[in-house]
Amino acid sequence: MNVEQARAWIAAIAATVEAEAETLTRLDSAIGDGDHGANLKRGFAAVRTALEGFEAHTVGDVLTKTGATLISKVGGASGPLYGSAFRAMGKTLTSPDVTTEQFGDALDAGLAAIRKLGGAQPGDKTMVDAWLPAVAAFRKKGPQAAATAAEEAARATTDLQARKGRASYLGERSIGHQDPGATSTALIFRALA
Ligand code: ADP
Ligand code: MG
Ligand code: MG
Repeated sequence: MNVEQARAWIAAIAATVEAEAETLTRLDSAIGDGDHGANLKRGFAAVRTALEGFEAHTVGDVLTKTGATLISKVGGASGPLYGSAFRAMGKTLTSPDVTTEQFGDALDAGLAAIRKLGGAQPGDKTMVDAWLPAVAAFRKKGPQAAATAAEEAARATTDLQARKGRASYLGERSIGHQDPGATSTALIFRALA
C-alpha cells in the first residue's frame, strides 16, 4: 500500500459508511442508542476534510491523521475505539510504501489498541469479534478473505450476548441482534479489499 492507496482506502470507508449509515443506525437502535451510523458518517466526513489539504509523506501519516480526527470528532464509543486503531496502525507504517506483511502487523496493532482501550474479550459482541478473524484471514489469505471473514463474524454476533458497551445493559435481550460496531468493521475491511 502506498500513500495514494491509503487515501483511497479512507475515502472508500467514508463512502460506505455514508451509504450504510441508516443500516448501522437501525442496528444500534435495537441494542444501543441509535447513533452509530450518524457517528461514523460525521467522523469520516471530518476525516475527508482533514485529509484534503494534508501533506502525507507516509502511509502512517494518512492513518494517524484519520485516527486523530475520529477521536476528536466522534463522541460515541466507536470514535475513540476506531480512532485509536487507526492511530496505532499509522504509528507502525513509517514509509511511503508498505508491504502486505507490514500492513498485517499494522492491523494487529490496530486490534490491540481497540482491545486495550475497550477491554472487550472475543465473544463479548463488539467490533473485536469482527476485527479478530479479519486480521487472521488477512495474514493468511489477504484482503478479500479478511473482508469475507469480517462479514461472517459480524453476522455471527447476532447469537451472542453483549458484555461490553451500551448493548450489555440489555443482558439477554441483546441476543438476536447483530452488533453495529462489528458490522461497521466489516465495511472497513470490505473497503480495504
Ligand atoms: P455508543 O455506544 O457510545 O453510542 P457507537 O454507537 O458509535 O457508540 O458504537 C457502538 C459500538 O461500539 C458497539 O456496537 C460495539 O461494537 C462497539 N463497542 C462498544 N463498547 C466497546 C468496547 N468496550 N470494546 C470494543 N467495542 C466496543
Ligand atoms: Mg450508539
Ligand atoms: Mg452514543
